[in-house]
Amino acid sequence: MYAEIIVDIAAEQVDRVFTYRVPEGMTLLPGTRVAVPFGKREKEGFVIRLKETPDYDEAKIKPVLSALEEYPAVLPQLMELAFEIREKAHCPLCEALRLMLPAEMRGGRVKVKTEECARLLIGADRIDEAIAAQSRSAKRRLLITLLSDGEWHPVEELRGMIRDVREPLRWLAERDMAQITQREILRSPYYGIVDAPPDPELTEEQKEALEELLPALTRSAKPFLIHGVTGSGKTEVYIRLVRRALEMGKGAIILVPEIVLTPQMINWFRSRFGDTLAVLHSRLSPGERFDEWRRIRLGRARIVIGARSAVFAPVENLGVVIVDEEHEQTYLSDRFPRYDARDVAISRAKREGAAAVLASATPSIYSYAMCRRGDYTLIEMPRRVLDRPLPKVYVTDMREELRKGNRGMFSALLKEKLDACISAGQQAMLFINRRGYASSVNCRRCGETIKCSRCDVSMTYHSVDRTLRCHWCGEIRPMPKACPACQSPYIRPMGVGTQKVEEELNRLYPGAGVIRMDMDTTAGKNAHFDLVNRFRAGQAQILLGTQMIAKGLDFPQVTLVGAVMADMTLNFPDYRSPERTFQLLVQVAGRAGRGEKPGEVVIQTYKPEHYAVRAAAAQDYRAFFREEFQRRRQDLYPPFTMLARFLCESKSMETAKATAESIRDGIIREFGGSALEKRILFIRADEAPVTRIQDRARAHVLMKLLNHPDTERLLERFQEMAGEEYPAHVVLEINPASLA
Ligand code: ADP
Ligand code: ZN
Ligand code: ZN
Repeated sequence: MYAEIIVDIAAEQVDRVFTYRVPEGMTLLPGTRVAVPFGKREKEGFVIRLKETPDYDEAKIKPVLSALEEYPAVLPQLMELAFEIREKAHCPLCEALRLMLPAEMRGGRVKVKTEECARLLIGADRIDEAIAAQSRSAKRRLLITLLSDGEWHPVEELRGMIRDVREPLRWLAERDMAQITQREILRSPYYGIVDAPPDPELTEEQKEALEELLPALTRSAKPFLIHGVTGSGKTEVYIRLVRRALEMGKGAIILVPEIVLTPQMINWFRSRFGDTLAVLHSRLSPGERFDEWRRIRLGRARIVIGARSAVFAPVENLGVVIVDEEHEQTYLSDRFPRYDARDVAISRAKREGAAAVLASATPSIYSYAMCRRGDYTLIEMPRRVLDRPLPKVYVTDMREELRKGNRGMFSALLKEKLDACISAGQQAMLFINRRGYASSVNCRRCGETIKCSRCDVSMTYHSVDRTLRCHWCGEIRPMPKACPACQSPYIRPMGVGTQKVEEELNRLYPGAGVIRMDMDTTAGKNAHFDLVNRFRAGQAQILLGTQMIAKGLDFPQVTLVGAVMADMTLNFPDYRSPERTFQLLVQVAGRAGRGEKPGEVVIQTYKPEHYAVRAAAAQDYRAFFREEFQRRRQDLYPPFTMLARFLCESKSMETAKATAESIRDGIIREFGGSALEKRILFIRADEAPVTRIQDRARAHVLMKLLNHPDTERLLERFQEMAGEEYPAHVVLEINPASLA
């Protein structure tokens, strides 16, 4: 027997199968990981196919050294998915296969953990008799009693109850009355204990949604998009759908944008599904992640919740894949090989006969457009559960505030509502869009902004330790005493950072308690959970935070939400700015009034007339979609076109730019004339908006491509071009998540 094997080396030259001999007595299946000789080294590889006869000289064929696991690490259906990803992401097959495994599994960096265990080999009916027979040893009697359930018990645990347990244990084992062996144990991450609440009675809308979804568990259907307003109870629909899948013997995958942002959803699932649930996220230790993965692979966990890469979880007999908050950018992988987890989810579901369900309160323009074209089935949940009203939204114009002499960070209205909320003993959430408006440090005399020495971005002031930090590369510097340009002492942090707002809130409302959630306060492993739990327990009246408090959280006691500087994303030079701003504002507003008391929202903005702000204030997705879709058609943005860019990075801007220009010229030469006009709307070589990151100068060739039957071929050609040798480092990006 011979095996075709992909050696786990990510290089174009090795991206083909090699044939190895399978030694007598070794059983291999496609997908099994093996150790093989490669050149003078030993390498890991994946069995792709087995065959009876080799296609070249048998004498030259080397043998497989060993199987790394006794089971195929890559399921057959995931093997097929890997082939598809190779095609779509233009990457070597081994890179696509690597997506299917926890990274730490490769290279044997984590080991299966074992523990010595013992169990009794005496039948239940003979136990009393066996105990009676041990009249001379109290230890043996106790041991038999402790083991009488017939289950495996860790020896370590028994040692805690019986001193020198080894001796009676050996005595029993020698007489075949007990068995001692090393058993695998699974490291389980800590989630805390969760009580299962009783199932709520489903609302009419939830029932209708479920009725539409359930048939897709048994017969193939188009992907679904649930457009459900915030608080419409989508999670309960997922739970019922997943439960039904489980009853049918099927598994489920639920993707969430960022696991630490959704502790509640995990709690809900955990309380209903217990140990059949596995959770995959980046904050697990390597050992925990490996064990969670193995629980899934070995079928002990049938339901998986996880971020983007959980779409590759080895769930067999998949019944449903759910993508929650499908509009989130985190579903686009930012690393090579690049993939969109939503596309993979849909493709995987189709391949495995499972239902694909995308859901959001603010669907992406793309997915909603797919519904209008009839490619997806739209399910609408326009009302909140129990007829709770959507919150009342007020918009305050910050330019107007300034004209009235208010230089503070809160508008008069937000201040008034906060006063009322705090004195009534209720809870408020304040949201700051930090990425859009960090507290940069400027000189009030000459206007100089302090920038990172390695990146072309302003540094952010942190008042706790009076340092300046770069959010791109992490550089930290002490706050200078004078302006580096003009030496004036009038150098100040500008704008609003979370810390500054926190200080202001503590001053305005001493005793109310403020919990701040941002990158700095949530670095620890359970920090998110702890902060969220403290707020839920009422230990503070105000929760202040960045993007990470905008979504998913469900605090029934919150009656007021303030978006302090939420529309700053509108200033980003990116065609998706209106979409992102709208999504963010609707999600933020959706945090208010989720309990019995109705909620209010104050949006502070400099652009009250913008359609994204107006539609968000009215919480009218359809109005937003109409305007945005129209604008994209008019200005030829995706989904009507495709953006592609070659990003060129180098030590010097000159090299980066020259590379970009030569690529641009090459494309014009090759696709010039009328063909160019039909397919490439514009092509431009330029410095990238962020000109330097981590000391690397950045330039790009930016192109807008018309959707055309030929586009796929064009992209393949671009991919080839990106793989050629250049003085600068070049990557091709198609509809990149960021054009920075
Ligand atoms: P969404 O994800 O659509 O914003 P959630 O799933 O977070 O909404 O649900 C909002 C709130 O409504 C949660 O507190 C949830 O426990 C509650 N809820 C959901 N379904 C029901 C129901 N049928 N009856 C009562 N409460 C419900
Ligand atoms: Zn930097
Ligand atoms: Zn100055």
